[in-house]
This record gives sequence, structure tokens and C-alpha cells, in this order.
Amino acid sequence: MDVTKLNKVIEGKTKIIYENPDDPKTVFMVFKDDITAGDGVKHDVIEGKALVDWKTNRDIYEYLNRRGIDTHYISSPEEKVSIVKRLDRKINLEVVTRRVAAGSILNWGDVEEGQRFDPVITQFYYKDDPLHDPMLDDGFIDYLITSGKAPEYAQMRESNARVFNVLEKTFAQFKVQLIDFKLEYGIIDGIVMVIDEITAGSFRLWPYKTEHPNLNQANILNELDSAGRLDKDIYRKGGELKDVKSKFEVIAQITSKFKEL
Ligand code: UDP
Repeated sequence: MDVTKLNKVIEGKTKIIYENPDDPKTVFMVFKDDITAGDGVKHDVIEGKALVDWKTNRDIYEYLNRRGIDTHYISSPEEKVSIVKRLDRKINLEVVTRRVAAGSILNWGDVEEGQRFDPVITQFYYKDDPLHDPMLDDGFIDYLITSGKAPEYAQMRESNARVFNVLEKTFAQFKVQLIDFKLEYGIIDGIVMVIDEITAGSFRLWPYKTEHPNLNQANILNELDSAGRLDKDIYRKGGELKDVKSKFEVIAQITSKFKEL
């Protein structure tokens, strides 16, 4: 079937969603070769990126589903195409969990790169490019939860930490540290579920510097090969597109082994 001939529901920066004529409860998610950063200001097309992202996304979601996590993901019937549950309501947030300080937290947090958070910390960012995705303050979130106005925030906090801990342990088997990640959520059949793609651009992943690093320290920067980072930071920092793609391929090779776990 040529999915791209179907009715488009929405087109985003990196994916297109099409209606499934055979099942109104599901939609097709098709990956694009586009890559963006900085609220979409930086934009490029990397030939073959869609296929790499589709594989990474498939392997991570199939693993999470096997671990009993509620997600929108159903299957990946053909290259670059996945079938996911149709949302009743999208929650307009990026939910970030951090184990190690890196990226935006260095700009405003009183932390140094490499500082280790235990337990992990979770932050909610309101998705809005013109406003640069402002972070919601924890007091407001606590209010939303305790007042009963938005109990889903408690579920998202718990889910994000749980998924992070699962994926951190899994990546550790391949000698890489999950630094931080971003997940998104929606409501499907009254349940808060992980939605959207989970691909190389969704997380930071730094290889261990040695076979047996000491990760039980206040700052673990020296235990990790931060220059060898596998994630999208190379793109954010102006790296060559072919290097971005080859890093993403290394990630896809790692996640392809999740099937055997
Ligand atoms: N992230 C993402 N999409 C965004 C912003 C962040 O997937 O629009 C991911 C990012 O890859 C990292 C984590 O969320 O793994 C935390 O990102 P951070 O707040 O440090 O922002 P950044 O430095 O990426 O702008």
C-alpha cells in the first residue's frame, strides 16, 4: 500500500501522520529525512535519516511495550512506516528526564556538565516555538496534581522516570550512558500513554570511557567519552551531516540488539 496517498492528518517537522482507512482507531506515522534544531530555526535534510530513525523508534518502542509500558506504538509494517494508536487528546508538553547535567540545564541551573542526579529529575516544557518551549515550574505542577485538576501530570512524572530507568539500564549493557531524554504523552482510551517518536534526536547518549566506569560519583564527566557522544548534539553544534547520520546509525545498531534482550 502507498501510505502517502492516504489522507494526511498532520505534517510535522520530522513525520507525517496519515489516516488508516481500515481502522479509525489507528494512524500511520511516516518518518521524514528532515532534521531540525533550535525551535526549528536550524533545518536540514539528511538522505536516509528517516530509515535510521524508523528502526531506532521501532526497536525502542517494541522493547518498551514488552516491558509493559503504556505506549501508542503498535507495529512497523514497512520501511519508514509505523502504525500507532490514534490519540483522543495530545498533551502539549515535552517531558524531560535527566540523569546527568548537559544541554539547556547548564544555562540556568547552578550545575556543571556531568553532575549526576540521583534520583533522576523530571521537567515539563510547554511546546511553543515562539516562546522557546518554556519550562513549567514545579509548584504549578504540584498544584495541578494535588488540586485534582490534572492528575495526568503525576502519571507522566512517574512514567518518565520509569522509562528512563529501564532504558538507562538497557543502554548500560552496551557501555553507553543515557544522559537525558524527552518523551511526549497523549490520552488514548482514557489512559496516559507515551506517544511520538523516540529516536536519536530524543536523547543524549555518551559512551563509557572505560570498560568499568565509576558512575557512583557526584560528577561522572570524566568517566564518559563526552567527545564521542552519539546523539543530536553533533548536529546542534554544527557538525557535518554525514557525521550526524553515522552517529545515528551507531545508535540504531545498538537498539537493534534490544530485540535479543
Ligand atoms: N529534546 C528533544 N526535543 C526538544 C528539546 C530537547 O528531544 O525540542 C531532548 C534533548 O535531545 C535532550 C533532552 O531533551 O536529550 C533535554 O534537552 P535540553 O533541555 O537539554 O535542551 P537542548 O539542549 O537539547 O536544547
